[in-house]
Amino acid sequence: MTIIYWNQEYKDVEEYLKTDIIKGLSNEEAQKRLREYGYNQLKEQNKKSLFLMFLDQFKDFMVLILLAATIISLLLGEVTDAVIMIVVVVLNGILGMLQENRAEKSLEALKKLTSPTARVIRSGRVVDIPTSQLVPGDIVYLEAGNFVPADGRLFEATNLRIDESALTGESVPVDKDIKALKAEELPLGDRINMAYMGTVVAYGRGRMIVTDTGMNTEMGKIAEFIDSQDTAATPLQRRLEELGKYLGVGVLLICFIIFITGILSRRPVFDMFMTAVSLAVAAIPEGLPAIVTITLAIGVQKMIKKKAIIRKLPAVETLGSASVICTDKTGTLTQNRMTVMKLYTNDKVYSDINAIFKSEGSTDNEVKFLLECAALCTDAFIDEDGREIGDPTEVAIVMAAKSAGIRKQDIEEAKPRVDEVPFDSDRKMMTTVHRDEKGYKVITKGAPDNVIDRCTSLYLNGDILPLDDSIKEKIKAVNEEMAKGALRVLAVAYKDLDDIGSHGEFECDLTFIGLIGMIDPPREEVKESVRLCKKAGIKPVMITGDHLVTAVAIGKELGIYKAGDEAVTGVQLNELTDEELDKQVKDISVYARVSPEHKVRIVKAWQNNGAVVAMTGDGVNDAPALKQADIGAAMGMTGTDVAKGAADMILTDDNFATIVSAVQEGRTIYENIRKSIHFLLSCNVGEIVVIFVAVMLGMPMPLKPIHILWINLLTDSFPALALGVEPPAPDVMDKKPRPKGESIFAHGLWWKITLQGILIGLLTLVAFRLGLMKKNLITARTMAFSTLVLTQLFQALNVRAEASLLKIGVFSNRYMTYSIILSAVLMFIVILTPLRTYFGVSVLNATDWGIVFILSLSILIITEVIKYFKKP
Ligand code: ATP
Repeated sequence: MTIIYWNQEYKDVEEYLKTDIIKGLSNEEAQKRLREYGYNQLKEQNKKSLFLMFLDQFKDFMVLILLAATIISLLLGEVTDAVIMIVVVVLNGILGMLQENRAEKSLEALKKLTSPTARVIRSGRVVDIPTSQLVPGDIVYLEAGNFVPADGRLFEATNLRIDESALTGESVPVDKDIKALKAEELPLGDRINMAYMGTVVAYGRGRMIVTDTGMNTEMGKIAEFIDSQDTAATPLQRRLEELGKYLGVGVLLICFIIFITGILSRRPVFDMFMTAVSLAVAAIPEGLPAIVTITLAIGVQKMIKKKAIIRKLPAVETLGSASVICTDKTGTLTQNRMTVMKLYTNDKVYSDINAIFKSEGSTDNEVKFLLECAALCTDAFIDEDGREIGDPTEVAIVMAAKSAGIRKQDIEEAKPRVDEVPFDSDRKMMTTVHRDEKGYKVITKGAPDNVIDRCTSLYLNGDILPLDDSIKEKIKAVNEEMAKGALRVLAVAYKDLDDIGSHGEFECDLTFIGLIGMIDPPREEVKESVRLCKKAGIKPVMITGDHLVTAVAIGKELGIYKAGDEAVTGVQLNELTDEELDKQVKDISVYARVSPEHKVRIVKAWQNNGAVVAMTGDGVNDAPALKQADIGAAMGMTGTDVAKGAADMILTDDNFATIVSAVQEGRTIYENIRKSIHFLLSCNVGEIVVIFVAVMLGMPMPLKPIHILWINLLTDSFPALALGVEPPAPDVMDKKPRPKGESIFAHGLWWKITLQGILIGLLTLVAFRLGLMKKNLITARTMAFSTLVLTQLFQALNVRAEASLLKIGVFSNRYMTYSIILSAVLMFIVILTPLRTYFGVSVLNATDWGIVFILSLSILIITEVIKYFKKP
């Protein structure tokens, strides 16, 4: 018998699903159910098999032309040529397949890394597990910012509101409740005691018993395939594909001219046809987008090691051109390890924290009252194993209370929480309501300015006195003084009630108790990262919910804020029009007391100034800013699912320094893609020059079609890939950020490609002529073939470095060393093994090798000399 979950009391659901809302399922039972119900995930699109990937390589237009040419050669009885072509095409297909597979694998691995976790009770313990392991009967915690990880029946809902637009289209979050509903038939939006997979907790918190998982969920029923990972082509990939088309047409045109000229000068039609086809196949850079993809994919893997997970591939490119990094303070610039340093209560500042808690029992009663109230108004606790659980700000309070001899469990037992208004970064405070002997106690803690404005009285020497303006000023002055010392300050206030009214009445007419100042030391590595940022022409900007004075103090310490900079608060920001902000934004380096909505305005203002903006965020309300930013970076540890879902990148260590190293990696990847393009295109130009000049001058053909194919489809590929993993250039962070929309061919790349391409072609032709003069056509071709291969390998070394190769070290990229060896071996296989008869080449003597080597090396020497004289 199945039951309708919303129609039942939660106790019945608990019983029906054989679980326990206090202890949860046992680990063994959960494992058993996992085997029975399967993983809690939606079905994914079938993956491409390796074989299909292999076949895919033959969809390419150029490869099809090549296959057609092979068939023509077979028909004409040129069996050797046909067989070699087939071998080359198949090898090329395998290479393509391996590359695609590798790229796919890294994206797959990424997906696993970004898969969310859920907080559940298993065997009586609260644990975080991957959502894919949830089973019916699990007890799951829901908090603002979580994606609901499965379908479930709620049995606890504190101000719980869930945004169900993903399922119902209704954008207003639904207020949830736990009571059984009467009707058996209810539209999904009305089942207010249920929570559904894929919807988002907008506010409050709750707990539920998982009822359905995976494809049995409501989401599973409507979604045959949902892919959260964005694998769309990056702008650069799209641009290169576009460019590839133009180049392709150009190359075809040149090949056509070569073909016609050849025939007019009475060369054999079949030979000319094969030459033109091979040249076209070789010179059309159809492999460029693939090289970009694999370079990006490898880069993404490297970033994971540096604690940045890329969710959207285009972000890698954008990262390289980031010119502004807007960052949260707490946890990103600071350690988020708070310790209470100062207290203020009963008109007295306690600065020496050790003295306050000198020995248990000797703490002043007022201090105890302050800490007890503050500790009651937290969700943090110390578990049985002594671990500190919860938000660091709150943990600090609970620890301070503990030092004063107050155990959170004891006070919570004596004054149980009956209601609450959760913390949110707009209100900047939170309130809890407790039952005590006298009735109810409302406790509010939060940003002093906000709390004090809601206080009408003051707690002094056990009495409640009216709070006049002069006392308010005094409290604000103490707050300011604490903030100057870079402390985060919270105010605590309370009131007693006979009866609980509604939420609206909690946070008013409060009695001020005191202030708590805590230190959150800056992260050690951030200072250096800020310096690096500035050197790289990137402006770091601090955006925090904290007090202006605290923010500026920390900003100064880290080098983000310097004399002459502006620091503004959210209130001041509200007074600025968008135009005014656009004008001023460049001078502002610290924003304090801002709300998440302000972040969107700040991003837009920078973007209006042409900046490429990275922005960090963790809360639900940060999502719009993360989306608006060019690079949204969510916190991996403290971030909500919603923030992670909206982000392009996740910082697994929540660290500012990670963004900076990701930018460095982004710049390196971009440079490496440029290098691969530089290499491949210059080699292609070289090949075209060889054939074009030979045909035009009526020379014998220096290269056979299969030589061109061998070089282009095999020996070229390895160095091009190795260029993709070049280590960062030593000066990569010394340059200004690349302007938005700058062409990948900027800074004279076209010129370099063309001139160096012509040089490659000419050197090959010289080798060919020398061979012809000295010996016969076969030797001349062998010399041309080996000169072309080796020149290209030296060219690969040449493009590795913008400045002299000696500066970065010839062997500093070991993949390059390996790939050069491999490519050279592939060349020698053709010349030194019996294969040579099929390739129409012969063994060279030492002098000939000497000529080949000197000619090839000269490309490196010539470019080194040019680089030397071009030095600034
Ligand atoms: P950021 O991470 O953006 O640098 P933040 O962590 O300081 O900033 P919020 O978490 O939005 O920003 O906090 C804003 C203010 O709210 C804090 O300065 C503090 O006064 C108050 N606050 C923070 N946490 C709590 C809490 N748990 N309870 C009550 N008030 C809090």
